[in-house]
Order: sequence, then structure tokens, then C-alpha cells
Amino acid sequence: MIDLHTHSSISDGTDTPGALINKALAHDITVLALTDHDTIAGWDEAVAYLRPNLDLVLGSEISCQTQDGISVHMLGLLFDPLDQQLQQTLAQTRENRYGRMERIISRLNQAGFEISMSEVLAQLSEGATLGRPHLADALIEKGIVKSREEAFSELLHNHSKYYVSHYSPTPEETIRQIKAAGGVAVIAHPFASLRGRTISSETFTTLVAAGLDGIEVDHRDHSQEQRELLRTIAADFGLVSTGSSDYHGNGKLNLLGEFTTSIAQWEKLESRARERRVVRV
Ligand code: AMP
Ligand code: ZN
Ligand code: FE
Ligand code: FE
Repeated sequence: MIDLHTHSSISDGTDTPGALINKALAHDITVLALTDHDTIAGWDEAVAYLRPNLDLVLGSEISCQTQDGISVHMLGLLFDPLDQQLQQTLAQTRENRYGRMERIISRLNQAGFEISMSEVLAQLSEGATLGRPHLADALIEKGIVKSREEAFSELLHNHSKYYVSHYSPTPEETIRQIKAAGGVAVIAHPFASLRGRTISSETFTTLVAAGLDGIEVDHRDHSQEQRELLRTIAADFGLVSTGSSDYHGNGKLNLLGEFTTSIAQWEKLESRARERRVVRV
């Protein structure tokens, strides 16, 4: 089973990178990608826990925003971690998430919710990318909501009056930077409309022109119709179609390996990277 999109506690997942590797081994995953939000800080620990029979694909789920304000997640896989431009972009996004969190908190405070930045930061693992799920965890701790799901549906979703976005590069610029770093770019859950506005089918033309390699087709946030449409778009552009879990440990219902990528699609994707960077022991 090939699962190309998972999160650890280095972003908003709840398993450490090492625990994630152990779970992947126990679930008979054969190829696993670690794709924490806007960071590669979990890579070393993941590699250290690797065992035979599991191929590790190192990557990141990069937050992007289109010129008209639509949030897009781009999976960058198999890129050079020493590429300065890409790392600078990720660092800028991570830093910007702090000011953005302060602004969301201040909006919540004005509405009477008593929550502070230090309470949110207490939910964050060392070195992890800060995100709304950590705010959700702090709201759970204070008894204001019962779960991350409730926190998002009641207070933290993208259309909420408390919502503030953070700096993000455009999807096209992100694809160019991933490709310049030798990696491959797969757009994550492009039609997941529960999260907010999504890109139109026409936007794929500019993403492909920028170098897009694949589309995450099979994902729990897509309907059957959306999957069929995305599979057609991928085939029309000669792109790779992937399926993945977007596993977050206990942070979401998504189960490791609940959607997978075929061997043929994975081999096609890997062949589009500049170097063979899959890690195996
Ligand atoms: P942020 O990156 O800070 O804007 O937060 C977005 C992240 O929150 C997404 O990448 C998801 O991992 C997570 N998320 C979004 N909706 C939910 C939800 N309903 N329940 C749990 N986590 C969610
Ligand atoms: Zn996440
Ligand atoms: Fe995502
Ligand atoms: Fe994700």
C-alpha cells in the first residue's frame, strides 16, 4: 500500500515521526510520504526509525494562496532539502503563522472566548509548524469545545468571522520552487470544498504550465463525482493520479492507508523527480 500524504506532530498530526513510521510498518504500508505542513523538520527522525520493507518519501504539504485568495495545499515530494529558495519560502510561511494566530486569538477574545497565545503554544510540539489545530486543542483543553471537528465547524473554519489567513506563495510559484529543488509537485485535495473555496477546473492549465506533476484524486474530502472529474483532468494533462490518507494521528478521523496510490502511478511520479531520493534501509 502506497500512502503519499501524512502528518506527524511536527505539524498538526499527533504521532511523532518515529511513531508514524512504526504505524506504517504495522499497517503494511510499502511506500510512505511524510508531508508535514510547511516544514521538513520531521525528516531526520523519520529516517532514523526506518526499517526494511518500507520506502520513505520525504516531502512537505506547502500552504499556498491564489491571487484571488483561494487556499491551496501543494504536496512537494523528493526535493533537495538544501535548496535555499524553497526553505526560505517555508520559513517565511511558518513565521507568518505566529502573527496570524495572534490575530485570530484577538478576534476570539473580543467575542468573549478566553484563550491566550501561550495556551495555544503549549499544545505545539517542539519545532512544529503552528496551525489552527493547535488553537483547537487549546480550546478543547479549556472546555470551550469538545473536539477539533467542533472547533473547526463552530469557530475556526475558513468562512468564520474569526478567520485570518497567513502569508503563502501562489500555487504556481510553489510548483516552480519544488521543481527547481528537483522534486515533484502534487496538488492536495483540490476539490475539498468543506474547507472553503476551491480552484476551478480551468486553473489546472496554469498549474500544469508551471510544472504540476500530479493530482491527489482519491481523498476522503472528495465525492465520487469529484474523483472521476479529477481523474479525467489528470489523464487529459498526462498527470499522475494519487490517492492518500492525509493521516493526522488522533487529530482527524483519517486512517493510515485509507486511500492509496497504485504502483504504476507512483513509479510514474517518482520518475519525474530529478534524483532518486526515496529512502530505504
Ligand atoms: P492552518 O494551516 O492553520 O490554516 O490549519 C489548517 C489545517 O487544519 C488543515 O491542514 C487540517 O489539517 C486542519 N483541519 C481543517 N479542518 C479540520 C477539521 N474539521 N478537523 C480537524 N482538523 C482540521
Ligand atoms: Zn493538517
Ligand atoms: Fe491539506
Ligand atoms: Fe494534509
